[in-house]
Amino acid sequence: MIPLFEYYPALKESVAHTALAQLPTPVAPLVINGVDAKTLHVKRDDLSGEPYGGNKVRKLEFLLGQAVKDGVKTVMTFGAAGSNHALATAIYSRPLGLRCISMLVPQVNAHSVQRNLLRGHLAGADLHHYLGRKHVALGALYHFNREMLRHGQFPRVIPPGGSSPVGCLGFLNAALELRAQVDAGALPTPDVIYVASGTMGTCVGLLMGLQLAGLNTRVMAIRVTDPPYTSPERARGLYAATNSLLRAMDGSIPDLRFPEEQFTLRDEFLGEKYSLYTAEGMAAVARAREAEQPGVSTPRTGGGLKLEGTYTGKAFAALLSDSEAGALRSKHVVFWNTYNSRDFSKEIEGIDYHLLPQDFRRYFEEPVQPRDA
Ligand SMILES: *Cc1c(COP(=O)(O)O)cnc(C)c1O
Repeated sequence: MIPLFEYYPALKESVAHTALAQLPTPVAPLVINGVDAKTLHVKRDDLSGEPYGGNKVRKLEFLLGQAVKDGVKTVMTFGAAGSNHALATAIYSRPLGLRCISMLVPQVNAHSVQRNLLRGHLAGADLHHYLGRKHVALGALYHFNREMLRHGQFPRVIPPGGSSPVGCLGFLNAALELRAQVDAGALPTPDVIYVASGTMGTCVGLLMGLQLAGLNTRVMAIRVTDPPYTSPERARGLYAATNSLLRAMDGSIPDLRFPEEQFTLRDEFLGEKYSLYTAEGMAAVARAREAEQPGVSTPRTGGGLKLEGTYTGKAFAALLSDSEAGALRSKHVVFWNTYNSRDFSKEIEGIDYHLLPQDFRRYFEEPVQPRDA
Protein backbone atom coordinates (compact mmCIF):
# COMPACT_ATOMS: atom_id res chain seq x y z
CA MET A 1 0.00 0.00 0.00
CA ILE A 2 1.26 3.51 -0.77
CA PRO A 3 2.38 5.59 2.23
CA LEU A 4 -0.42 8.15 1.73
CA PHE A 5 -3.05 5.48 2.32
CA GLU A 6 -1.11 4.01 5.24
CA TYR A 7 -1.10 7.40 6.95
CA TYR A 8 -4.72 8.18 6.08
CA PRO A 9 -6.72 4.98 5.50
CA ALA A 10 -9.91 6.96 4.77
CA LEU A 11 -8.28 8.33 1.61
CA LYS A 12 -8.05 4.85 0.20
CA GLU A 13 -11.83 4.96 -0.30
CA SER A 14 -12.10 8.50 -1.62
CA VAL A 15 -8.93 9.05 -3.65
CA ALA A 16 -8.53 7.38 -7.03
CA HIS A 17 -5.08 5.97 -7.65
CA THR A 18 -3.63 3.71 -10.29
CA ALA A 19 -0.19 2.18 -9.77
CA LEU A 20 2.11 3.32 -12.58
CA ALA A 21 5.37 4.11 -10.79
CA GLN A 22 8.07 1.92 -9.35
CA LEU A 23 8.19 3.08 -5.77
CA PRO A 24 9.95 3.82 -3.55
CA THR A 25 12.55 5.40 -5.80
CA PRO A 26 16.09 4.82 -4.49
CA VAL A 27 17.95 7.30 -2.33
CA ALA A 28 21.70 7.29 -2.97
CA PRO A 29 24.63 9.13 -1.48
CA LEU A 30 26.24 11.44 -3.98
CA VAL A 31 29.96 12.14 -4.00
CA ILE A 32 30.99 15.24 -5.90
CA ASN A 33 34.40 16.79 -5.72
CA GLY A 34 34.30 20.10 -3.93
CA VAL A 35 30.71 19.98 -2.70
CA ASP A 36 30.85 21.02 0.91
CA ALA A 37 27.78 19.59 2.67
CA LYS A 38 27.49 17.45 5.79
CA THR A 39 25.82 14.79 3.65
CA LEU A 40 24.47 14.83 0.09
CA HIS A 41 21.92 12.38 -1.29
CA VAL A 42 20.00 12.16 -4.53
CA LYS A 43 16.36 11.07 -4.63
CA ARG A 44 16.20 9.10 -7.82
CA ASP A 45 12.84 9.97 -9.29
CA ASP A 46 14.62 9.65 -12.62
CA LEU A 47 13.86 5.94 -12.12
CA SER A 48 10.24 6.45 -11.04
CA GLY A 49 8.77 4.44 -13.89
CA GLU A 50 9.33 2.04 -16.73
CA PRO A 51 9.35 2.80 -19.65
CA TYR A 52 9.55 6.45 -18.61
CA GLY A 53 10.61 8.01 -15.32
CA GLY A 54 10.84 11.53 -13.92
CA ASN A 55 8.60 13.46 -11.60
CA LYS A 56 5.41 13.39 -13.70
CA VAL A 57 4.75 9.69 -13.15
CA ARG A 58 3.90 10.29 -9.48
CA LYS A 59 1.27 12.87 -10.38
CA LEU A 60 -0.21 10.72 -13.14
CA GLU A 61 -0.90 7.89 -10.70
CA PHE A 62 -3.60 10.13 -9.23
CA LEU A 63 -4.61 12.14 -12.30
CA LEU A 64 -5.07 9.15 -14.60
CA GLY A 65 -6.44 7.10 -11.71
CA GLN A 66 -9.19 9.70 -11.38
CA ALA A 67 -9.81 9.76 -15.14
CA VAL A 68 -10.23 5.98 -15.26
CA LYS A 69 -12.49 5.98 -12.22
CA ASP A 70 -14.67 8.64 -13.86
CA GLY A 71 -15.02 6.65 -17.07
CA VAL A 72 -13.15 9.23 -19.12
CA LYS A 73 -12.04 8.18 -22.61
CA THR A 74 -9.75 11.03 -23.62
CA VAL A 75 -7.42 13.27 -21.66
CA MET A 76 -6.17 16.62 -22.92
CA THR A 77 -3.03 18.17 -21.58
CA PHE A 78 -0.80 21.16 -22.22
CA GLY A 79 2.84 22.07 -22.31
CA ALA A 80 5.80 23.28 -24.30
CA ALA A 81 6.74 21.35 -27.45
CA GLY A 82 9.27 19.19 -25.60
CA SER A 83 7.18 18.82 -22.45
CA ASN A 84 8.17 15.86 -20.29
CA HIS A 85 4.72 16.04 -18.74
CA ALA A 86 2.91 15.79 -22.07
CA LEU A 87 5.10 12.84 -23.00
CA ALA A 88 4.58 11.04 -19.69
CA THR A 89 0.82 11.57 -20.00
CA ALA A 90 0.84 10.11 -23.51
CA ILE A 91 2.93 7.11 -22.50
CA TYR A 92 0.92 6.19 -19.41
CA SER A 93 -2.54 6.94 -20.87
CA ARG A 94 -2.34 4.36 -23.59
CA PRO A 95 -2.17 1.16 -21.48
CA LEU A 96 -5.10 2.48 -19.43
CA GLY A 97 -7.17 2.71 -22.61
CA LEU A 98 -7.17 6.51 -22.63
CA ARG A 99 -6.58 8.63 -25.72
CA CYS A 100 -4.28 11.60 -25.19
CA ILE A 101 -4.45 15.01 -26.86
CA SER A 102 -1.33 17.14 -26.34
CA MET A 103 -1.71 20.89 -26.84
CA LEU A 104 1.80 22.22 -27.23
CA VAL A 105 3.34 25.68 -27.58
CA PRO A 106 6.74 26.81 -28.90
CA GLN A 107 9.91 26.47 -26.89
CA VAL A 108 13.63 26.93 -27.43
CA ASN A 109 14.87 24.07 -29.56
CA ALA A 110 16.92 21.20 -28.08
CA HIS A 111 17.62 17.57 -28.89
CA SER A 112 15.36 16.58 -26.03
CA VAL A 113 12.46 18.34 -27.79
CA GLN A 114 13.01 16.21 -30.88
CA ARG A 115 13.26 13.01 -28.84
CA ASN A 116 10.16 13.75 -26.78
CA LEU A 117 8.10 14.60 -29.86
CA LEU A 118 9.07 11.37 -31.59
CA ARG A 119 8.36 9.34 -28.46
CA GLY A 120 5.02 11.07 -28.01
CA HIS A 121 4.11 10.25 -31.58
CA LEU A 122 5.10 6.63 -30.96
CA ALA A 123 2.89 6.57 -27.87
CA GLY A 124 -0.04 7.52 -30.07
CA ALA A 125 -0.51 11.04 -28.73
CA ASP A 126 -2.64 13.42 -30.78
CA LEU A 127 -0.03 16.19 -31.03
CA HIS A 128 -0.90 19.80 -31.84
CA HIS A 129 1.31 22.88 -32.00
CA TYR A 130 -0.08 26.37 -31.33
CA LEU A 131 1.63 29.73 -31.49
CA GLY A 132 0.58 30.85 -28.04
CA ARG A 133 -1.91 30.59 -25.24
CA LYS A 134 -4.81 32.28 -27.06
CA HIS A 135 -4.44 29.86 -29.94
CA VAL A 136 -4.39 26.99 -27.47
CA ALA A 137 -7.67 28.18 -25.98
CA LEU A 138 -9.31 28.23 -29.40
CA GLY A 139 -7.79 24.88 -30.29
CA ALA A 140 -9.07 23.40 -27.06
CA LEU A 141 -12.62 24.54 -27.90
CA TYR A 142 -12.34 22.87 -31.27
CA HIS A 143 -11.07 19.60 -29.79
CA PHE A 144 -13.68 19.68 -27.04
CA ASN A 145 -16.40 19.77 -29.67
CA ARG A 146 -14.72 17.22 -31.88
CA GLU A 147 -14.44 14.78 -28.99
CA MET A 148 -18.08 15.28 -28.09
CA LEU A 149 -19.17 14.64 -31.67
CA ARG A 150 -16.96 11.61 -32.13
CA HIS A 151 -17.14 10.00 -28.72
CA GLY A 152 -20.07 11.60 -26.91
CA GLN A 153 -17.89 13.00 -24.16
CA PHE A 154 -15.64 15.97 -23.47
CA PRO A 155 -11.99 15.22 -22.75
CA ARG A 156 -10.65 15.41 -19.22
CA VAL A 157 -8.34 18.38 -18.86
CA ILE A 158 -5.04 17.76 -17.12
CA PRO A 159 -3.36 21.12 -16.46
CA PRO A 160 0.22 21.95 -17.52
CA GLY A 161 2.75 19.89 -15.61
CA GLY A 162 -0.07 17.89 -14.01
CA SER A 163 -0.01 20.47 -11.22
CA SER A 164 -3.54 20.39 -9.87
CA PRO A 165 -4.39 19.50 -6.27
CA VAL A 166 -4.97 15.91 -7.42
CA GLY A 167 -1.54 15.86 -9.10
CA CYS A 168 0.06 17.23 -5.94
CA LEU A 169 -1.03 14.10 -4.08
CA GLY A 170 1.78 12.31 -5.88
CA PHE A 171 4.32 14.45 -4.09
CA LEU A 172 2.55 14.31 -0.75
CA ASN A 173 3.02 10.60 -1.12
CA ALA A 174 6.66 11.15 -2.15
CA ALA A 175 7.41 13.06 1.06
CA LEU A 176 5.87 10.29 3.15
CA GLU A 177 7.96 7.81 1.18
CA LEU A 178 11.08 9.84 1.99
CA ARG A 179 10.13 9.80 5.68
CA ALA A 180 10.00 5.99 5.56
CA GLN A 181 13.48 5.97 3.99
CA VAL A 182 14.76 8.24 6.76
CA ASP A 183 13.21 5.91 9.35
CA ALA A 184 14.86 2.93 7.67
CA GLY A 185 18.26 4.62 7.90
CA ALA A 186 18.75 5.20 4.17
CA LEU A 187 19.58 8.85 4.85
CA PRO A 188 19.59 11.34 7.72
CA THR A 189 16.63 13.72 8.06
CA PRO A 190 17.35 16.26 5.35
CA ASP A 191 17.74 19.90 6.31
CA VAL A 192 17.04 20.98 2.76
CA ILE A 193 15.74 19.53 -0.52
CA TYR A 194 16.76 21.16 -3.81
CA VAL A 195 14.15 20.75 -6.54
CA ALA A 196 13.32 22.46 -9.84
CA SER A 197 10.05 24.37 -9.96
CA GLY A 198 8.13 24.50 -13.23
CA THR A 199 4.39 24.41 -12.51
CA MET A 200 5.00 23.92 -8.76
CA GLY A 201 3.12 20.68 -8.14
CA THR A 202 6.35 18.96 -7.20
CA CYS A 203 7.68 21.49 -4.70
CA VAL A 204 4.26 22.32 -3.22
CA GLY A 205 3.28 18.66 -2.88
CA LEU A 206 6.60 17.95 -1.19
CA LEU A 207 6.20 20.90 1.13
CA MET A 208 2.79 19.72 2.30
CA GLY A 209 3.88 16.11 2.50
CA LEU A 210 6.80 17.09 4.73
CA GLN A 211 4.35 18.73 7.16
CA LEU A 212 2.24 15.57 7.25
CA ALA A 213 5.39 13.48 7.67
CA GLY A 214 6.53 15.61 10.60
CA LEU A 215 9.77 16.67 8.93
CA ASN A 216 10.83 20.29 9.11
CA THR A 217 12.98 20.05 6.02
CA ARG A 218 13.26 23.20 3.89
CA VAL A 219 12.15 23.02 0.26
CA MET A 220 14.52 25.02 -1.93
CA ALA A 221 12.49 25.48 -5.11
CA ILE A 222 14.47 26.67 -8.10
CA ARG A 223 12.39 28.60 -10.59
CA VAL A 224 12.82 27.36 -14.17
CA THR A 225 9.69 28.94 -15.69
CA ASP A 226 8.29 32.43 -16.04
CA PRO A 227 5.20 33.63 -14.17
CA PRO A 228 2.38 32.60 -13.89
CA TYR A 229 3.66 29.04 -13.75
CA THR A 230 6.04 29.64 -10.86
CA SER A 231 5.30 32.38 -8.35
CA PRO A 232 4.92 32.74 -4.57
CA GLU A 233 1.19 33.36 -5.03
CA ARG A 234 0.78 30.20 -7.04
CA ALA A 235 2.60 28.19 -4.37
CA ARG A 236 0.23 29.47 -1.70
CA GLY A 237 -2.86 28.95 -3.86
CA LEU A 238 -1.95 25.42 -4.83
CA TYR A 239 -1.04 24.57 -1.23
CA ALA A 240 -4.40 25.82 0.06
CA ALA A 241 -6.36 24.08 -2.70
CA THR A 242 -4.59 20.78 -2.09
CA ASN A 243 -5.20 21.04 1.64
CA SER A 244 -8.92 21.72 1.00
CA LEU A 245 -9.17 18.74 -1.31
CA LEU A 246 -7.60 16.48 1.31
CA ARG A 247 -9.78 17.77 4.11
CA ALA A 248 -12.91 17.25 2.04
CA MET A 249 -11.94 13.61 1.70
CA ASP A 250 -10.62 13.00 5.18
CA GLY A 251 -11.67 15.35 7.98
CA SER A 252 -8.85 14.10 10.21
CA ILE A 253 -6.28 15.89 8.02
CA PRO A 254 -5.25 19.18 9.64
CA ASP A 255 -5.96 22.64 8.25
CA LEU A 256 -2.37 23.53 7.39
CA ARG A 257 -0.83 26.97 7.39
CA PHE A 258 1.60 27.65 4.54
CA PRO A 259 5.00 27.05 6.19
CA GLU A 260 6.84 30.20 5.05
CA GLU A 261 9.93 29.31 7.07
CA GLN A 262 10.30 26.01 5.24
CA PHE A 263 9.91 27.25 1.67
CA THR A 264 12.34 29.28 -0.43
CA LEU A 265 11.76 30.17 -4.05
CA ARG A 266 14.96 30.99 -5.90
CA ASP A 267 14.77 33.20 -8.97
CA GLU A 268 18.39 33.69 -9.89
CA PHE A 269 19.04 30.48 -11.83
CA LEU A 270 16.28 30.76 -14.45
CA GLY A 271 18.42 32.89 -16.77
CA GLU A 272 16.67 34.63 -19.62
CA LYS A 273 13.67 32.34 -19.90
CA TYR A 274 12.17 28.85 -19.71
CA SER A 275 14.00 26.12 -21.66
CA LEU A 276 16.93 28.37 -22.59
CA TYR A 277 20.02 26.78 -21.09
CA THR A 278 22.34 28.90 -18.95
CA ALA A 279 26.13 28.73 -18.66
CA GLU A 280 25.81 28.01 -14.93
CA GLY A 281 23.21 25.33 -15.54
CA MET A 282 25.35 23.56 -18.12
CA ALA A 283 28.39 23.78 -15.85
CA ALA A 284 26.27 22.09 -13.18
CA VAL A 285 25.23 19.38 -15.65
CA ALA A 286 28.93 18.71 -16.34
CA ARG A 287 29.79 18.61 -12.62
CA ALA A 288 26.91 16.20 -11.93
CA ARG A 289 28.10 13.87 -14.63
CA GLU A 290 31.38 13.41 -12.77
CA ALA A 291 29.55 12.46 -9.58
CA GLU A 292 29.77 9.05 -8.02
CA GLN A 293 26.79 7.30 -6.56
CA PRO A 294 28.33 4.59 -4.41
CA GLY A 295 26.37 1.39 -4.24
CA VAL A 296 23.81 2.26 -6.92
CA SER A 297 23.97 1.04 -10.46
CA THR A 298 23.00 3.65 -12.99
CA PRO A 299 21.46 1.81 -15.89
CA ARG A 300 22.62 2.98 -19.30
CA THR A 301 23.66 6.45 -18.24
CA GLY A 302 27.36 5.68 -18.11
CA GLY A 303 27.77 6.54 -14.42
CA GLY A 304 27.42 9.92 -12.81
CA LEU A 305 24.27 11.90 -12.40
CA LYS A 306 22.67 12.72 -15.74
CA LEU A 307 20.93 16.07 -15.73
CA GLU A 308 19.71 18.45 -18.47
CA GLY A 309 19.60 22.18 -19.11
CA THR A 310 15.91 23.09 -18.75
CA TYR A 311 15.15 21.91 -15.22
CA THR A 312 17.62 19.86 -13.23
CA GLY A 313 20.79 21.65 -14.37
CA LYS A 314 19.41 24.95 -13.12
CA ALA A 315 18.37 23.37 -9.81
CA PHE A 316 21.75 21.73 -9.38
CA ALA A 317 23.48 25.05 -10.15
CA ALA A 318 21.70 26.49 -7.11
CA LEU A 319 22.98 23.64 -4.93
CA LEU A 320 26.54 24.13 -6.18
CA SER A 321 26.37 27.87 -5.70
CA ASP A 322 25.11 27.51 -2.12
CA SER A 323 27.81 24.96 -1.42
CA GLU A 324 30.48 27.33 -2.72
CA ALA A 325 29.13 30.06 -0.48
CA GLY A 326 29.59 27.70 2.48
CA ALA A 327 25.85 27.61 3.20
CA LEU A 328 25.61 23.80 3.17
CA ARG A 329 28.57 22.95 5.40
CA SER A 330 26.42 21.92 8.37
CA LYS A 331 23.48 20.66 6.31
CA HIS A 332 22.08 17.30 5.28
CA VAL A 333 21.17 17.93 1.66
CA VAL A 334 18.94 16.08 -0.81
CA PHE A 335 18.86 16.76 -4.53
CA TRP A 336 15.54 15.61 -5.98
CA ASN A 337 16.25 14.33 -9.47
CA THR A 338 13.08 15.00 -11.44
CA TYR A 339 14.43 14.12 -14.90
CA ASN A 340 13.73 10.79 -16.59
CA SER A 341 16.83 8.62 -17.11
CA ARG A 342 15.23 5.72 -18.98
CA ASP A 343 16.82 5.58 -22.39
CA PHE A 344 14.29 5.41 -25.23
CA SER A 345 16.64 6.13 -28.12
CA LYS A 346 16.14 2.59 -29.52
CA GLU A 347 12.35 2.99 -29.63
CA ILE A 348 12.49 6.20 -31.64
CA GLU A 349 15.33 5.22 -33.92
CA GLY A 350 14.26 5.51 -37.52
CA ILE A 351 10.96 7.31 -36.91
CA ASP A 352 10.56 9.88 -39.66
CA TYR A 353 9.66 13.29 -38.23
CA HIS A 354 7.61 13.99 -41.34
CA LEU A 355 4.99 11.71 -39.79
CA LEU A 356 4.34 14.38 -37.17
CA PRO A 357 2.03 17.32 -37.88
CA GLN A 358 3.77 19.83 -40.10
CA ASP A 359 4.09 22.50 -37.39
CA PHE A 360 6.64 20.35 -35.56
CA ARG A 361 9.09 20.15 -38.44
CA ARG A 362 10.84 23.31 -37.31
CA TYR A 363 12.25 21.45 -34.29
CA PHE A 364 13.92 18.98 -36.62
CA GLU A 365 14.98 21.40 -39.35
CA GLU A 366 16.14 24.38 -37.30
CA PRO A 367 19.31 24.25 -35.22
CA VAL A 368 19.17 23.44 -31.52
CA GLN A 369 20.26 26.12 -29.05
CA PRO A 370 24.05 26.66 -28.92
CA ARG A 371 24.50 25.28 -25.37
CA ASP A 372 22.86 21.96 -26.30
CA ALA A 373 26.06 20.22 -27.36
C1 LIG B 1 8.09 19.11 -15.08
C2 LIG B 1 9.46 19.01 -14.60
C3 LIG B 1 9.88 19.70 -13.44
C4 LIG B 1 9.02 20.68 -12.72
O1 LIG B 1 8.01 20.07 -11.94
P1 LIG B 1 6.75 20.93 -11.55
O2 LIG B 1 5.93 20.04 -10.72
O3 LIG B 1 6.08 21.31 -12.84
O4 LIG B 1 7.21 22.15 -10.82
C5 LIG B 1 11.16 19.51 -13.00
N1 LIG B 1 12.01 18.71 -13.66
C6 LIG B 1 11.66 18.04 -14.77
C7 LIG B 1 12.67 17.20 -15.45
C8 LIG B 1 10.38 18.17 -15.28
O5 LIG B 1 10.03 17.53 -16.40
